[in-house]
Amino acid sequence: SIIMGVETSCDETGVGLVRLHDDGTVELLADEVASSVEEHARFGGVVPEVASRAHLEAMAPTVRRAFESAGLELSDVDAVAVTVGPGLAGALLVGVAAAKAYAAALDVPLYGVNHLAGHIAVDTLEHGPLPSPCLALLVSGGHTQLLRVDHIASKITEIGSTVDDAAGEAYDKVARLLGLPYPGGPPIDKAAKSGDAQAIAFPRGMTGPRDAKFDFSFSGLKTAVARWVEATESRGEQVPVADVAASFQEAVADVLTAKAVRAATESGIGTLVISGGVAANSRLSALARQRCAEAGIELRVPRPRLCTDNGAMIAALGAHVVAAGCAPSAMDLSANPALPVSTVSL
Ligand code: ATP
Ligand code: MG
Ligand code: FE
Repeated sequence: SIIMGVETSCDETGVGLVRLHDDGTVELLADEVASSVEEHARFGGVVPEVASRAHLEAMAPTVRRAFESAGLELSDVDAVAVTVGPGLAGALLVGVAAAKAYAAALDVPLYGVNHLAGHIAVDTLEHGPLPSPCLALLVSGGHTQLLRVDHIASKITEIGSTVDDAAGEAYDKVARLLGLPYPGGPPIDKAAKSGDAQAIAFPRGMTGPRDAKFDFSFSGLKTAVARWVEATESRGEQVPVADVAASFQEAVADVLTAKAVRAATESGIGTLVISGGVAANSRLSALARQRCAEAGIELRVPRPRLCTDNGAMIAALGAHVVAAGCAPSAMDLSANPALPVSTVSL
């Protein structure tokens, strides 16, 4: 059967199409994304009203492009999945309203699903079914969590999370300090390639013996970078952007991979999935590859295009929810901006 996925939780209007096969595997057919990121760039962050309006304008054309690229008709759709949260309320509402309209017009079931679970589910499009259990390190613009996934459609349990900033948020704030554009992940990743990751010893938050084992903290790291940059400027010296970027990136990758590998080892879980926008980071995946190999853990990281927000991840999760036999959502379905990751579908 064919599942259509609609994503509007932040600043990407995503429409994905997947095929759910009888053996439970899910195949990617289309993944179209329209981003309003450039409209937000000059504000240094997403402006909710601007995002909602952009979703309204982009929805119909993005749907059209998805069907064109898959060579399918709207009438081929067997179910519609849509992000109901977490995310920006006004942005989510645009996707939910659109998905309801498509489901009603096509007379097919509607499934409201969780954006964060979608970030994990997308990996099945690339690497096949997830083993049960597996561990997921979800690192995105708004979230940083370690999750035990017993079943992608029904059982996800948080075992650790950030106590302050998300990893992506730290990237965005540090990029701003260094005069790099928003969103900060890609330009820091690029600048770091010509820098020395050992140049500056930035702190590794929450790694002391008395810190909660699987929680994270990135606000101290961000402050340390700010102080270092200020001190350099106050001496009248030029800030070595590449070295700061590389050293910051190393600190983030070090903490994330150390805790994820430790969590997998201690809970006897053999597979780690890293997903969310920050999973697109080249150093994070390289260090994770090295440390997982040393620990005998299988590592799965979706390709960068699938790590950041898209509709294919919502279609993929919708397919797993359908395959699991979950009940469809009611037609009075509403968005939940604070939906916890444990609620996979509504
Ligand atoms: P959430 O999923 O928590 O609701 P979001 O959807 O806004 O938040 P994503 O689209 O999953 O977040 O990820 C966006 C974040 O990923 C941004 O903070 C961005 O800087 C970061 N990011 C993107 N590419 C990279 C990269 N190569 N290296 C590091 N960070 C990156
Ligand atoms: Mg985005
Ligand atoms: Fe996201």
